Amino acid sequence: MTSPHGPDASRPRDHDDADPATAGNGATAPGTAAPGLRAAGWALAVLGAATLAITAFTTPWRALPEQAPPVAPDAARDFTAEQLARSAAFDAVVGPPAYLSLGLTLVTAGVLAATPLGARLLGRLKGPWWLRVLLGVLAVTVAVELLRWPLGMWQETHLRDYGLSVQTWPAWAADRVKGIGIRTGLTAVMVLAVVALARRVQRWWLPAALGAFTLTVAASFAYPVLVEPVFNDFRPMAAGQLRDDLLAMAARDGVPVEDVLVADASRRTTALNAYVSGFGATRRIVVYDTLLRAPADEVELVVAHELGHAESGDVLYGTLVGGLGAACGACLLYLVSSARTVRRRSGVPSLADPRAAGLIMGLVSLATGLSGPVQNLVSRQVEARADVHALDLTRDPATFAAMQKRLAISNISDLSPDIVEYVLYASHPSIPERIALARSWAALNGLPEP
Ligand SMILES: [Zn+2]
Repeated sequence: MTSPHGPDASRPRDHDDADPATAGNGATAPGTAAPGLRAAGWALAVLGAATLAITAFTTPWRALPEQAPPVAPDAARDFTAEQLARSAAFDAVVGPPAYLSLGLTLVTAGVLAATPLGARLLGRLKGPWWLRVLLGVLAVTVAVELLRWPLGMWQETHLRDYGLSVQTWPAWAADRVKGIGIRTGLTAVMVLAVVALARRVQRWWLPAALGAFTLTVAASFAYPVLVEPVFNDFRPMAAGQLRDDLLAMAARDGVPVEDVLVADASRRTTALNAYVSGFGATRRIVVYDTLLRAPADEVELVVAHELGHAESGDVLYGTLVGGLGAACGACLLYLVSSARTVRRRSGVPSLADPRAAGLIMGLVSLATGLSGPVQNLVSRQVEARADVHALDLTRDPATFAAMQKRLAISNISDLSPDIVEYVLYASHPSIPERIALARSWAALNGLPEP
């Protein structure tokens, strides 16, 4: 990504140098608009409309057929007053650090995007442009993560108080530093690529959009083999009845599964979980070792849910839509960073300027934060479809409901999330909603209601 002519041999080509009206005769006109704004705007409109349309038409908005009798979620029906109180108490203590952390991220992003503070601080860095970009990414990350660190510790003490976390502080800190390191590496690649493109290509939104799509797909594909092993050890499930049953169920489902992997999550948490990640050659179904303490038929129900994700290709599909979203983000970044107000307020004349690192990080962080609720909305529908898949495959709503109860109690799930929590954080329907779905499914299929 460095210039073949050595550092700084290619002078930054600021947008200001290339107004469409004057670029042809080589004149420069500082303060005029970037080239290709109209094309980038059209690309954003077309890509954005396509992404929205694909999402709207392919999201399973209704998990069960219309004739399924509706069942209202009712936490009091399945959980004792003590369990409900414990869930509410846990929710009350983990809320403040989570909201503060989110607020901090958004405020920092706003400061970087709308004030010259970031550009001023990054303006003090010395060296070739690419080094200044890398140091800028590092400086912003360190500043934000230092502010977030005590909030993370505060959150962790609550997880320990409730017996969810079993980590020591050094192990917790190591996990956190590894996570920050991986995110920073990805951010650095992205920011460096944007600045490099802005320095070489006038209408850089096009290669940036293609790059954003490609990077998203590549990262999702590589995630299970490159990132997950940094945090956990994975081993194939031990030979035995459970493994035989799970593979037989996958075969019955028509989903090719060579192995179910077990993650050593118990060194970190007492929570139960399972997931599917990757696609194609990297696709894997993983269960936490903590989950294996549950009765075998409940583990089967969890894996049946994961098979639902595998069968519908949810990871690949989510990655492709995410890649389209990232491409939209690249066009949006071009348009927003070209806007006179943003250039003036942020003190960054163009993204070809190495001081733009903070502005790029701020804008990307804002866009990611704002897209979260939309991702959750779609994710909840996809999760409900996987639940229905598990019910169709096992035809065992009673065990499904038992498994949901076990998840709720072990993980101290929020049994009555308020609307803000639901919109911001809920990637799954709430446990009472999932149990209600099983009851509705049972009524539809003429089976006794669990
Ligand atoms: Zn799921």
